[in-house]
Amino acid sequence: MSSTVAFIGLGHMGGPMAANLVKAGYRVLGFDLVPELLARACATGVEPAASAALAAAEAEVVITMLPAGRHVLSLYREDGLLSAARPGTLFVDCSTIDVADARAAHEAAVAAGHRSLDAPVSGGVVGARAASLTFMAGGGAAEFAAAEPLLSVMGKKAVHCGAAGAGQAAKICNNMILAVSMIGVSEAFVLAESLGLDHQALYDVASTASGQCWALTVNCPVPGPVPASPANRDYRPGFAAPLMAKDLGLAANALRAGGVDAPLGLKAAEMYAAFAEGEGSALDFSAIVRTLRPRNGTTA
Ligand code: NAD
Repeated sequence: MSSTVAFIGLGHMGGPMAANLVKAGYRVLGFDLVPELLARACATGVEPAASAALAAAEAEVVITMLPAGRHVLSLYREDGLLSAARPGTLFVDCSTIDVADARAAHEAAVAAGHRSLDAPVSGGVVGARAASLTFMAGGGAAEFAAAEPLLSVMGKKAVHCGAAGAGQAAKICNNMILAVSMIGVSEAFVLAESLGLDHQALYDVASTASGQCWALTVNCPVPGPVPASPANRDYRPGFAAPLMAKDLGLAANALRAGGVDAPLGLKAAEMYAAFAEGEGSALDFSAIVRTLRPRNGTTA
């Protein structure tokens, strides 16, 4: 195994992911702009680096887990991450970022003499802690093979989706399906309410019929039928609405850039952007059901 990993971005996701690498025996040099987060990571065995570039200079693999594409690109270019690393270093970006930014990051890494993989995740903070994340990777087969031992320490599944940017593409396509299906399931429950049809009765039929989907059977947007769903705990996330809004914003960018006509995906992006800025700012994404009721003039 690669002995030294630089881990940049030790927030909600990066902190526990870095801790899992330490547990598996990797030497992890960590850096975050927020000193408290770096200190918290050090308590799990991560070694502090004075800067991202200094961590990269000592590592065989550099993992980034940052908010958005601009953070990744500015670290790679302006903050000297690429120029500080030894030639042939493997850069693995696990952040969820724009497909175009992911491709630009790959190009910059390769132009600087390095290897590169985009490997965004699904599974949230719970998955990051439990090392049960799913990774969706884009890049060369050799790069994927080189990263796989680390990904298997931080997650339970890693899928090689194709060339540079394919991991990000898979992530936003999957989340667009999820958003559209959550809105569809929510609208069906609201229609059921207006028709006097019991939530449980609709669930019992749809969960074993052609309406079956993850938004219904795992993250059911109304309380009752699925006891573990966030609806049963006042919609505490779960998968927070602002994160869904972010991912749909990336999907909407890609739809427009590719001239793809996807009215439901674009509408879902619009609905989640408004919800995340308003009452959904701290709620699970399934709470979107609440916004559908007043508009339809019905109550639960
Ligand atoms: P977060 O904001 O908790 O963590 C990001 C960290 O990056 C912060 O601690 C920040 O200080 C640090 N950072 C920013 N710029 C930096 C720089 N130049 N150098 C060093 N550190 C820097 O975010 P998160 O929830 O951990 O999410 C990280 C990424 O994972 C995002 O792209 C997000 O979309 C994606 N993601 C999050 C979840 C989730 O449930 N939180 C799930 C799947 C994917």
